Amino acid sequence: MTKPDEIIPDPSCMDDFDPNSVRVEQALERMQAFIAPISDRVRVPVRDALWRVLADDVTAAINVPNHDNSAMDGYAVAGTDLPADGTTTLHVTGTSWAGKPFDGEVTSGNAVRIMTGGVIPAGADTIVIQEDCERDGDQLRIGAGHRVGQHVRTKGDDVMAGAVVLPKGKRIIPADVGLLATVGVGEVNCVRRPRVAFMSTGDELRAIGETLNTGDVYDSNRYSLHAMLERLGVELLDMGVIRDDRDDVREAFSRAAKIADAVVVSGGASVGDADFVHETLNELGTVDFWKMAMKPGRPLAFGRIDNALFFGLPGNPVSVMVTFYQFVTPALKRLMGLTETMPVRMPVRLADPIKKSPGRLEFQRGILRPDAKGQMQVHTTGGQGSHILTSMSRANCFIILPLESGDIEAGEIVDVEPFEGLV
Ligand code: AMP
Ligand code: MG
Repeated sequence: MTKPDEIIPDPSCMDDFDPNSVRVEQALERMQAFIAPISDRVRVPVRDALWRVLADDVTAAINVPNHDNSAMDGYAVAGTDLPADGTTTLHVTGTSWAGKPFDGEVTSGNAVRIMTGGVIPAGADTIVIQEDCERDGDQLRIGAGHRVGQHVRTKGDDVMAGAVVLPKGKRIIPADVGLLATVGVGEVNCVRRPRVAFMSTGDELRAIGETLNTGDVYDSNRYSLHAMLERLGVELLDMGVIRDDRDDVREAFSRAAKIADAVVVSGGASVGDADFVHETLNELGTVDFWKMAMKPGRPLAFGRIDNALFFGLPGNPVSVMVTFYQFVTPALKRLMGLTETMPVRMPVRLADPIKKSPGRLEFQRGILRPDAKGQMQVHTTGGQGSHILTSMSRANCFIILPLESGDIEAGEIVDVEPFEGLV
């Protein structure tokens, strides 16, 4: 069994820097190198393929469009008949409808009435839109100022026969569903969706509907995990709440590892007295514990139990979401066969000042919003405690502050990562 390579700490004298900590970029690199994409594939009807990942390139068997055709309602003419100045009168000899072509030829001095999508008749290469013509019986008068080849959609200018229309490793979005239909493909080979087991650990956790005794909290992590996993497009296996009991933890982890491709656990990743995650993982699998140089979300466990990937996330409600977005999301994207695994980030002007000590990469919660002039800028949500879930709820992006950075003034440029991201 392989083990994620050990990560060498990066010593530094920064205030908040722990010399035994691991940089986010290093952890991400190790994770990506450790994970092999699922090789099982399923054949899926196009309509059911939305949000799945393509297992093979899809090649077009046809040109789209299949013939040169008109982009407008008007008249198909030969470019050589267009007047350089003044007007010319042509004779209308027939009609080319979408789906019902004109089977004659357009010879000099003649024109054919044509509808949008109608095949360009032989001899014609130009469309004059109907608004630019005067029609009187079968006489058609057109003026100057037209360009040879105008308003013609050429065969294959959307898709060329033989070309890859959709590459392996792409997430299927609504436009892709339409595109597959455009090239006449009814079924596609997709990567089997990963089965992801998830659970919460903690004696203080209560289910919704139960009474909270002193010190109890409702188990919110299993709900945010459920939502984030669902949006990723994996199969969900909810393993419930596991009590801080050595045998319960061992039983839950080994059961999850048998039925899932990946296991996500929240809580118990630190080394408190009631945290059995650490020792159980060492016993059952090969898992590394990383003290991440990030805020929030310091402790992180990653490795394997049997054939399942294992992610041990911190218990604090914000930390669990931040570590899920930053580590579990790209890892699962790789597992599910996606080529693009990293989120889109962009530079934006900061609207409020932010306090920060150097030494950790911070993922603060931000609100991206245009200012009065329509320029995009980012506001902080205020309190950034790792227990303040309302800060995640009010935010629409992370503000990413580099490890080395100290306080940041309003007006400076910062990187943001929108939660919804781009596909
Ligand atoms: P832990 O990582 O288990 O030490 O938990 C850290 C903090 O997160 C504690 O305040 C826990 O009560 C809280 N916490 C842990 N798991 C959950 C959960 N599933 N839902 C809400 N809060 C949690
Ligand atoms: Mg706990």
